[in-house]
Amino acid sequence: MASPPPFEENTVKLRFHGIAKGQCECDGCEDHEDRCEATFTYDERGTADDDGAWQADHIDPDDGNLVLNCRILCVPCHKHTPTYGQH
Ligand SMILES: [Zn+2]
Ligand SMILES: [Zn+2]
Repeated sequence: MASPPPFEENTVKLRFHGIAKGQCECDGCEDHEDRCEATFTYDERGTADDDGAWQADHIDPDDGNLVLNCRILCVPCHKHTPTYGQH
């Protein structure tokens, strides 16, 4: 499967501030059952090597780059998604 192009900065900002409100959007994974409690500032966006960083994830890798297909995840939660590393 081809990787989708990265989100526009504006899309990520909208999602981060308007919907995620600076909190990881994971509703449950191997690490926790309820909404993840990790919170961040926008500047903490980073890579998997950055401690405490967050990343923008494609909810459906085939569904384009709209705000609704973007979610904010902390790195540990992102690593638990089945598609991690593919997009
Ligand atoms: Zn999380
Ligand atoms: Zn999680």
